[in-house]
Amino acid sequence: MARYTEAVCRLCRREGEKLFLKGERCYTPKCSFEKRSYAPGMHGKMNVGRPGRESDYGKQLRAKQKVRRVYGIYERQFRRFYGQALRMRGQTGPNLLTILETRLSNVVYRLGFAASRAQARILVSHGHFVVNGQRADIPSYGISVDDVISVHENSRDTVYFKNLREEAEGRTVPTWLARDLTNLSGRMLRNPERSEIDGNLNEQLVVEYYSR
Ligand code: SF4
Repeated sequence: MARYTEAVCRLCRREGEKLFLKGERCYTPKCSFEKRSYAPGMHGKMNVGRPGRESDYGKQLRAKQKVRRVYGIYERQFRRFYGQALRMRGQTGPNLLTILETRLSNVVYRLGFAASRAQARILVSHGHFVVNGQRADIPSYGISVDDVISVHENSRDTVYFKNLREEAEGRTVPTWLARDLTNLSGRMLRNPERSEIDGNLNEQLVVEYYSR
């Protein structure tokens, strides 16, 4: 499975904002963006306070990269999801965000079973979850309404999952999901509304990028 191998904090600095890719660390003073909020590379610091004029293409590219980085998806797979969104009924942009939000690893993250999407992806690919009682170890597996996501029987006694009930308590769950912390499981009640997905993402620019 393809993964980012460079320091993920560089991605936040490249996008010029915090993307919250590292879980708890993002909320502490250890966050790299708090210390160096300029772009990485030798010209990053030199250009502080001198924002250049960005072309339409530049804006579309940045918007697309940001969505990809927030969800931790490589270009090829992202393009596949875009094609899927195009074929669905309704508007392509919101369709794309719905596909990204309802991927298994994102749902595990939204249920509070992982501190970040990256951690959720690892937990899923190591086989710690089941969907409707069947082992599911593909992070991009699409969750549908009424699917039940639970921690695998064999994983419940591990230290991580023993401590999870306490840790997950403080993590808010969106209203399109229902969480049962006692049984370490969750259910998807409906598809998320656009207003329930990160408002800081510009899916319209992503559509424009791929429609060029
Ligand atoms: Fe981004 Fe989190 Fe790294 Fe801060 S700690 S730069 S928010 S990934």
